[in-house]
Amino acid sequence: MFTRFNQLAIELPQPDYADANAAAAVQELLGGKFGEMSTLNNYLYQSFNFREKRKLKPFYDLVSSITAEELGHVELVSNTINLMIEGTTFPAEPDLTPMQNAKDKRSSYHFIDSAQASLPGDSMGNPWTGKYVFTSGNLVADLLHNFFLEIGARTHKMRVYEMTNHPTARRMIGYLLVRGGVHINAYGKALEIATGVDLTKMLPVPNLDNSVFDEARPFEEQGLDRILYTFSERDYRDIDKIWKGSHPETGEPLEVVIGPPEGAEMPDFPEIPEEFAPGITREDYEKIRKRLEEKAGM
Ligand code: MN
Ligand code: MN
Repeated sequence: MFTRFNQLAIELPQPDYADANAAAAVQELLGGKFGEMSTLNNYLYQSFNFREKRKLKPFYDLVSSITAEELGHVELVSNTINLMIEGTTFPAEPDLTPMQNAKDKRSSYHFIDSAQASLPGDSMGNPWTGKYVFTSGNLVADLLHNFFLEIGARTHKMRVYEMTNHPTARRMIGYLLVRGGVHINAYGKALEIATGVDLTKMLPVPNLDNSVFDEARPFEEQGLDRILYTFSERDYRDIDKIWKGSHPETGEPLEVVIGPPEGAEMPDFPEIPEEFAPGITREDYEKIRKRLEEKAGM
């Protein structure tokens, strides 16, 4: 089962300007082959399908707790995209072509299929697919896949970071580079325990430290590169059988935190009349309120 908090993993800066084309690139980090929907669903299905949960509990706990973190990453990237598109068009009567600025943006789906918001697809508009999920049932193969998936995800994040300096995108990517680094190391440590082979010796891949990225450094300074969360007050505590000792790259002590991270305020998005979204006017709202009050006998 799952519980939900109306909080975002980190605070996202409210941008001064829109960049819908950069938002289209960021879609790769959401619904691309190596995006957050892929990490989420790989770990989700591996946790559903896990055999010998009791015997192999630290590994089951690891995949399960990281699943919860990835759902929060899907949420974070989606909110980033929404904030980045905001302000591309202007409210006006239809005959004044208020959405003219959308015509030449890379993703028409952002303006026609959705009301200037994220979609479960990649940077070219291809929908995310369950074919990106690897759930072989072989523990070492699944962990190896996850190690590789996180490295691929890191590579794509670094490339999108180099494509845009939009402050909202950069903040999100800086954070996810640090958290993804934790996941790479966690799967590397799990593989060492399972096989004796220390894959963390080859890190970082690509061969560039997170500390090179201005927007990643503040999150490292907060220690977020050494913390793994259980994302449950009660369960998944055996991740401390894997996430222990010292950080393979920095040598700093690793730490398990029970429960989820603190979280930050969830952004809200204003109405976009030219998209008819949400399409509830002040008068509509008053009518709805009146109807509800009458039904309740008030
Ligand atoms: Mn992630
Ligand atoms: Mn991850």
